[in-house]
Amino acid sequence: MINVTKTFFPPIENYQNQLQRIWKNEWLTNRGELLLELEDKIKNYLSVSNIIIMTNGTLPIQIALKILGNYGEIITTPFSYVATTSSILWENCKPVFVDIDAEYLTIDETKIEAAITPKTTAILATHVFGNPCNVEEIEKIAKKHHLKVIYDAAHSFGVNYKEKSIFNYGDVSTCSFHATKLFHTGEGGALFCNDAELHHKMYYSHNFGHNGPLDFFGLGINGKTSELQAAMGLSVLPFLSNIIESRKEVVEYYNSNLNFAILKTIKIRENTEWNYSYYPILFQSEEQLVKVQKVLNENEIFPRRYFYPSLNKINYVNGISMPISENIASRIICLPLYFGLQEKELALITTIINKEIS
Ligand SMILES: *Cc1c(COP(=O)(O)O)cnc(C)c1O
Repeated sequence: MINVTKTFFPPIENYQNQLQRIWKNEWLTNRGELLLELEDKIKNYLSVSNIIIMTNGTLPIQIALKILGNYGEIITTPFSYVATTSSILWENCKPVFVDIDAEYLTIDETKIEAAITPKTTAILATHVFGNPCNVEEIEKIAKKHHLKVIYDAAHSFGVNYKEKSIFNYGDVSTCSFHATKLFHTGEGGALFCNDAELHHKMYYSHNFGHNGPLDFFGLGINGKTSELQAAMGLSVLPFLSNIIESRKEVVEYYNSNLNFAILKTIKIRENTEWNYSYYPILFQSEEQLVKVQKVLNENEIFPRRYFYPSLNKINYVNGISMPISENIASRIICLPLYFGLQEKELALITTIINKEIS
């Protein structure tokens, strides 16, 4: 069976070695030695100056919205994973969708200003499949209208834009370390924020608001992660360059073997060092997608319809029509892409697709 992704498992001895440290320390959570070490190693790996690791990639979005959203209208993309929209509603804010760019699949920055009202407090946009939003334009618009910018960068571990980590852009960026993501800790995530005061708020918010054992800075929740997850992160991180290299080979195989007279893939933004996190292809129609998917499934190949449906169409969302996002969502699929995917498996996938579309 070939799935859309496959969790990277480091050699079990590496994980066991990390576990030994935990047993020796007899310290299992509350920002222990392994977690602090993982934060340091990630800061070095990405060349970022700060990070707060959390239990998953949704909580940092919620914390950012709690602090910056202020129960207002949040301008957001309809083309993302459901967590982007559900977090807005969960934090009692209102999602205001702005359609996407048909090539980059990120929020169309040229349509943002028209959606701003006196109630708008922030922009929450996703670097879709690790492809950066137009961060410069978004920053300009945000400055002009005094809005905060939060990036759902769940897919963007290792992505650089203009020679620096994509996590440096916006007021806050969040990432997911879920088992299906490029870098993982089983469940996990992180928040990145360069402003010292804001970082302090985000930091105490993820730890019940504590200021020492008896005092509180303010309102908080529990976003801390345990040493067991940090142990997984420390075991996976040394393999990251290999993981990205292996994924790059898969992407290059698809690029040179799929029939792009008929299919399309995502356009990566200029000046981006991409992480090869997903391989989306766009069919000409949903019928074509369904037809190909059926044959792939019969051959035990399971791509995923990321993202479907367009988030403005979810039943609990009162969204207006987003024609580009809905159109793209109806005919896009992510192909299998992971460390160690074999060339003969890739040959089978591409042969089936090319045959079924022609
Ligand atoms: C995976 C993902 C999330 C949520 O991350 P979790 O770690 O699963 O909570 C949020 N946004 C996007 C775009 C994602 O793909």
